[in-house]
Amino acid sequence: MKKNISHIDADTQGAPLKGIRGEMITFHEDPFLVEDESKCYSHYSDGLVVIQGDKILAAGDYMEVATFYPDLKDIDRYDNAVIIPGMVDTHVHYVQSPMIGSFGDTLLQWLNQYTFPTEARFRSEEFSRSVARLFMGQILKQGTTTANVFSTTFPTSVDALFEESERYNTCMITGKVLQDRNLPEPLRDISAEGSVAMAEELLEKWHGRGRQLYAVIPRFAPTSTPRQLELAGDLYQRNIDRGVYMHTHLDEADDEIEWALSLYPEAANYTDIYRRYGLLGPRSVFAHCCLVKEEEWQTLHDYDCSVAHCPSSNLFLGDGMFKIWEAKDHKRPLRVGVGTDVGAGTNFSLPRQLNEAYKVSMLKKHSMGALKCFYMATKGGAQTLHLEDRIGSLAPGYTADITVLDMHPTEFLKWRMQFNDFILDRMFILQTLSPDNLVRATYVAGKRVYDREREQQLLYAADL
Ligand SMILES: [Zn+2]
Repeated sequence: MKKNISHIDADTQGAPLKGIRGEMITFHEDPFLVEDESKCYSHYSDGLVVIQGDKILAAGDYMEVATFYPDLKDIDRYDNAVIIPGMVDTHVHYVQSPMIGSFGDTLLQWLNQYTFPTEARFRSEEFSRSVARLFMGQILKQGTTTANVFSTTFPTSVDALFEESERYNTCMITGKVLQDRNLPEPLRDISAEGSVAMAEELLEKWHGRGRQLYAVIPRFAPTSTPRQLELAGDLYQRNIDRGVYMHTHLDEADDEIEWALSLYPEAANYTDIYRRYGLLGPRSVFAHCCLVKEEEWQTLHDYDCSVAHCPSSNLFLGDGMFKIWEAKDHKRPLRVGVGTDVGAGTNFSLPRQLNEAYKVSMLKKHSMGALKCFYMATKGGAQTLHLEDRIGSLAPGYTADITVLDMHPTEFLKWRMQFNDFILDRMFILQTLSPDNLVRATYVAGKRVYDREREQQLLYAADL
């Protein structure tokens, strides 16, 4: 007799069935909030994901799942690898790809010296397009299938990313960056009204077109006039029920906080600046949050805001230290994902961010194993973006965004892995050693868009 496992029957008139077979792990309850780890994940040493079109029909033990799909013949099989949900980058600036790794300094000097001149180049359609291509190629090679992305001032920078995302059929979130003071002329919005009208036009053009989603993005409080924040808050609030996002930076570094409060002296704290302009709510995502005060955590929780933890960026710029145990306090937990924050972040890889997140946490003696880490990079990231009903899990009905990590990506790792059997131990080794070729394959909406062993690795060439 067939076991009662969760699955969707194949549509006999629909697209052909496709399978992905290999060791597999997917995540359930939040391990930061649930003591019993066994409720937080399912692991199959020989797993099978069955896909039809862009949807997962079933995911589980190969022997159990295969019996429901006698017609399934087309199976990609991966040995010495682990199949996981596609990873989610909750904060990244694609427009900073050309200046990643620039010699650092404090946040504000780094912005003036490297970031602003680079972003000014995105007025050009051609330049925007070439960087968007490069960026999409890089994140797919690292197993990231959804990202919450900063573009810059110019609509060309927004169009270029969405167009490239549409080509791959990835779910991407971006929008025009709103910034009308305290930055050089080429990037500065001419007026608060004009800039927000431009953002609204882009929102109408892109939000909900295929898998593309729009975010209202004031860069951070110091680079917006009160009028621009007010109009941005109004645009976000008017579109909140349509699933539009708000994305910005918060409490990253000491001098930044001091500057923000000097420009908004009426605010009780940095979070309160955004609150006063209607910028807090579901789908509002705040990057960094390293130096958050208790009353701010409470406000962020009360408004159901999300946080993007960007450890490699925080270490690179010498900002504050993110306190995951505060963000996940059981009394007022927040949705927390991981962000690469390229170009202050030093790579496009989420597993490498997990390596840094672990170390940042350990500096204050809070240990964080692979379960918590990979939860944040997959289902936790989807929750951070309120997309946990469609991505971040290998389960029936979810979109088939899937990543395959190689357990033997290098000669040394192949040798090292023989000394551990437990899946979470091996995943911790992967995140800690995390070589550049860690990802074996990436699937987006059921299609293999990256295959490390294929001659043309990416489905579309990422030409510069
Ligand atoms: Zn950032």
